[in-house]
Parts: sequence; C-alpha cells; structure tokens
Amino acid sequence: MSGRATGAAETAATGEAGAAGRPFVPDATRLPAGATGVVVVDLGAIRGNYLALRSLAGRAECAAVVKADAYGLGAAKVVPALNRAGCRTFFVATPDEGAAALRLAPGATVYVLDGLIKGAGPAIAAAGVRPVLTGLDEVREWAALGPPEGRSPPAALHIDTGLHRLGLPAADLDRLAGEPGLLARLDLRLVISHLAAADEPLNPMNGMQRQAFLARAAHFPGLPRSLAASDGLMIGEDFHFDLVRPGYALYGGQAMPERPAPVVPAVSVHARILQVADVPAGAPIGYSATYRTRSRRRIATIAAGYADGVFRHLSRASGSQGGEIAIAGRRAPIVGRVSMDLVTADVTDLPEGLVARGGLAELIGATIGLEEVGGRAGTIGYEVLTRLGRRFHRLYLPDANGGG
Ligand SMILES: *Cc1c(COP(=O)(O)O)cnc(C)c1O
Repeated sequence: MSGRATGAAETAATGEAGAAGRPFVPDATRLPAGATGVVVVDLGAIRGNYLALRSLAGRAECAAVVKADAYGLGAAKVVPALNRAGCRTFFVATPDEGAAALRLAPGATVYVLDGLIKGAGPAIAAAGVRPVLTGLDEVREWAALGPPEGRSPPAALHIDTGLHRLGLPAADLDRLAGEPGLLARLDLRLVISHLAAADEPLNPMNGMQRQAFLARAAHFPGLPRSLAASDGLMIGEDFHFDLVRPGYALYGGQAMPERPAPVVPAVSVHARILQVADVPAGAPIGYSATYRTRSRRRIATIAAGYADGVFRHLSRASGSQGGEIAIAGRRAPIVGRVSMDLVTADVTDLPEGLVARGGLAELIGATIGLEEVGGRAGTIGYEVLTRLGRRFHRLYLPDANGGG
C-alpha cells in the first residue's frame, strides 16, 4: 500500500514531495486521465504538525481528534500516519468511527465523543473503544454493562462547564459523587470538558470554564483531565492539564488568527480546467444569468462544483463578492453561480499560456488558503475540509517514515 502511494506521489510531483515550506503542486499530466480534481494530503505535514503540537503540550499527552474521517482527509491514511508519529490516543465522534480508528491503530486508546448512544453499549464495548459518557443516564447504562459486583469497561466522563452541548451539569455530578456504589462500577480513565470560546483567547468565558472544570473535576481526584482542543492548546499551559486533544490544527487549520498554531498547511485541492472560451461583452454566465461580462472576457470552466465541496456561497453575481481560484500563483475570480459539477472563472487577466485545457486550477492551496476559502464561503475552514467531495482523486504524500 505504502509503496504504491509513494510512487503516486513521486510521479505526480513537480516539486519535492512534502518538502517543508515548499508547497506541493500536482502535475496534471500524471493524474489518472479521468480525474476531475485532486485532494493532496501531505502526511508528512500532518506528522510534523503533530510533533509540533506535542512539543507545545509539554508534559501533557497529545491525543489526536480524527472524527469525520479525519476531518474529511481520510482516516485510513491519517490515523496510521499519526500513530507512526507516536500518537496513542484518538478521539472520534461515533462508535463506527471508533471501531475503524482502532483497526487502523491497533492497541491505541480510542474515545467516542458522542458518548453512549442509547442501546449501543454492548456494541461499543465489543468494539473495544471507550465512550465519553456525557449524561447521568449514560453513566448508569454503561455501569450496568459490567458483571454483577464488577466494573464496566473503561470510559471517560464529559462534564459541562458552560458550552451546554454535552456533558454532565454540576447537579448531576454532585448526584454521581453521592452514589459511591455507582462510581465503583465504573472504570473512568479520563475526565473532559470542552471550551466554548477558545478561538478568542481573551474571552473571559475561557477562564470561567477552566475554574469550573477545576472545581468539578475535583470530584474525581487522580483522574487525568483534558480541556483543550486546538485553540485551547494555543491559549496557554494553564489549559493543557493532562491531555490535549487537537484536531483542526493537525491538518494545518488556523482557527485563531491572533495566536497561530505552529503548524503548516497539509491539504491542497486542485481541479481540472475543462474548457477555456472567449465570451462577448454583456454575456450572462451560469445559471439564472446572475453575472454579466462588462467587456469581452476569457472564461475557464473548471470541473469542480458544490458536489465536490465548492460552496455555492462562493458564487459571484455582477457587483457582488465571491470566491477565487488560482493558477500558478495568479488569482482569478469565480464568476456566475457555482453549480453541482462546475465552476466558471474569469481568467482574462492571467498570462496567456497559463490557462490551458487539461491543466489544474487551485481551489485551496499555496495561494488561496483554507481560512480564506472558509471566510469567503461564509463558513469556517473546518466545514470546508469536512465537505471535500469524494469524487476527486486523492493523493497522499508520504510521511517521513515512508508510510502513506
Ligand atoms: C472536535 C472536538 C475537538 C477537536 O477540536 P479542534 O478545534 O478541531 O481541535 C476536541 N474536543 C471535542 C469535544 C470536540 O468535539
């Protein structure tokens, strides 16, 4: 498997595969002939990002959040790469994701953040993953799975400190603490909470949640504690506790511009130019004719649409804002509506010869970063990543250990 992926990366590379600081640009002529686009995932960058975040975490263990198929990048490749980088604890959202992660990283510890879906206890236990128990009813249901007089399999406990999404509220924690018989039937290994405003380092809610976490986790002396995701990790050491659990930053995401994470981009997306055509002044472009050319223009039609994760919000009507594409570092505006399979860009101002049928246009990459795309699409980079379509070719650049 790794040999084939390495070969693909080498043959499709025009630059050094995964060389630090040198953005990788795939060679269109080396992609499968029918590929409409390519998602390039740099496993070496993900490995480097993991090591950088781990070193920042200091004495805290650095886990990895690989929910939603490793944020859309492909758990099948990303989880083994993180495991090779030394990651031993993974967080996912669902039991199925958990079972898959454990198959990909045998022997690792895998936590399921959705907790114990009602009735799913036996399946979760059989899979060998750990639910992050998120309510008193879940605690009771999990405890009941153990043998009479014995303990149920290992689990984590999620306590709410103000996000009011998942987790035991203070009153239920007190109730749990008041039931030593119930606690004795649990094998808790970790207590977590989640920050609501960690992307704003100065938001007072961070400190309030931290104080609440300290106070409420005190019900479980000696139990390892975890509060920080990617941006909590960047707020500071006070938030690291015993284990940090970044996701987005591993993939190069920068959720907090005022305190950037020491990570590099790990993903780029490029799509095929299908056609380049000159259109006259006043010509409508795309569905509903929302955009009209003001002069004679050259329009490139690119094989990427909302089915591939190009947000329809990136459409541009005449006089409005929209997305951009780039070719060889030169930007061109998306014009007209993004449709299911196609997008049109005005490439008139790009140098002659740069825009050729069969070539590639960058949708996310060295010129147009993930955060910019999220901003222009009226969303966040997280959503952009997790919505990357499934029909693009996927190219995995190997990590340092030659895996991939
Ligand atoms: C998704 C998630 C994370 C990871 O968040 P990032 O911002 O991607 O680092 C950590 N903890 C919980 C509870 C989550 O839901």
